[in-house]
Amino acid sequence: MKLNELNNLTEKFDKTDKMPALFLGHGSPMNAIEENVFVQGFRQIGKEIPMPAAILCISAHWEANGTFVTAMEKPRTIHDFSGFPKELYEVQYPAPGNPELAKEIKDEVKNTEVGLDVNWGLDHGAWSVIKHLYPDAEVPVVQMSLDYRQSPQYHFELAKELSFLRNKGVLIIGSGNMVHNLRMVDWRRLDEVDYGYDWAKEASEKMKRFILSGDYKQLINYQSQGREFELAVPTPEHYLPLLYAVALKDEKDVVSLFNDMAVGGSLSMTSVKIEAVHS
Ligand code: ZN
Repeated sequence: MKLNELNNLTEKFDKTDKMPALFLGHGSPMNAIEENVFVQGFRQIGKEIPMPAAILCISAHWEANGTFVTAMEKPRTIHDFSGFPKELYEVQYPAPGNPELAKEIKDEVKNTEVGLDVNWGLDHGAWSVIKHLYPDAEVPVVQMSLDYRQSPQYHFELAKELSFLRNKGVLIIGSGNMVHNLRMVDWRRLDEVDYGYDWAKEASEKMKRFILSGDYKQLINYQSQGREFELAVPTPEHYLPLLYAVALKDEKDVVSLFNDMAVGGSLSMTSVKIEAVHS
């Protein structure tokens, strides 16, 4: 996309509006092609919020040795999973990239070096959910990698530096799962509505309390929250995108939850919407 096209897009966005920020629990890649309550929740959110000029997605599925943003014109659809039906591998999400936006992020973020990437594309953490918000793939999407060497505090601070994008019509999406323990999933009870183990429910309740009360310090210090959190967050990558979303909340925003359900015992689909209150 050329700079003047980007300007046209951002001009369409009412500057008095501030784009919401989202955390989306993406769950199984099958959510990309199945019809279920979670997909309906994503679709509903796409209708509720203003049309973005672009999307910046921080996905659990792009961990890297540094912070990078995708800077290609046409990001490929990456099928980064195995053992799923052929139909899922055939899904293409041809949203354009936005190299100008990638460069702007690189220039504006001061506390860390942001690299421009031309090899990644859209992984399923991004496309499997964004396709439900914007089925026509008309909104340009840029992804930002998760630097796996960094602390939770680093991710939280980096996200704060991205807040200027909300005033430019950019929808920032963290995509992961708050409770995500794949080893402990009860595959036989995957279709049971809101089935969560006790520890998963307890961790989820605690996380939601911290999210809704704005106690983000506790979310950043998730490694000191005891056994339930250790089981809920055995590895950081699906949890950290949550920190990117909550870090973007400012005083005038309200926070709400949707798709707030457990799946298969050890996963949660709970998603978060942060948006400015209209006076
Ligand atoms: Zn995932």
